[in-house]
Amino acid sequence: MCSPVRSGVTGSAGDDLAPDVVTGQDGDVDFAFVSGDPALDLAGTVLSRRDEPVDTLATPADLERWVAACGELPDRVTADPETFATALSLREAVYRLALDRVLGRPFDPGSLETVNDAAAGPMPTIKLSDAGLQMSGELPAVLGHIARSGIAVLADPRACLKECGRTGCTRIYLDRSRGARRTWCGMDECGNRVKAAAYRARRRASAAAAGHGPQGTA
Ligand SMILES: [Zn+2]
Repeated sequence: MCSPVRSGVTGSAGDDLAPDVVTGQDGDVDFAFVSGDPALDLAGTVLSRRDEPVDTLATPADLERWVAACGELPDRVTADPETFATALSLREAVYRLALDRVLGRPFDPGSLETVNDAAAGPMPTIKLSDAGLQMSGELPAVLGHIARSGIAVLADPRACLKECGRTGCTRIYLDRSRGARRTWCGMDECGNRVKAAAYRARRRASAAAAGHGPQGTA
């Protein structure tokens, strides 16, 4: 069963990119590909969208690194400023539509237009070999592929989209697990952090309880 809405997802503050977005330092951010779809992974390049947004795609070079790091996209593309701007508006449109889907409300018309326009663009070339699928193409074609991939997910009524359960993480991911029981966008990214914090809190609580015990027994 898919229960995408958790407390805190109101859609009010997260609808659009907040104006005071902090940009990541060039080259120092590891990208995460845990959302189950390249369009959702692209949307996830803005971290903590509701609280303190951090944009990990600050420059065209960041986008080139992101494409190269994504396993299912070409190893190398060149991003000019105009295509970079197109990529960022595609990203925000995908995020908005995914959030609409999570909140069970109608899709935002402007975002639909942005994603549909991108999907109507050129297509990358794909090739099969013993190494698997290899994709090549320029950045506009890559954005077209990302948009089509996002459309396939957003149009699929069986696709279970969720927002990560860690407070502050606003990543939306596709839960393909059996019974759709996944809670975190990724274990390394969020699950282990939440578990470690809970463990530390328990340790602190039991230490405090011991400290308040009968005198002279320690
Ligand atoms: Zn997360």
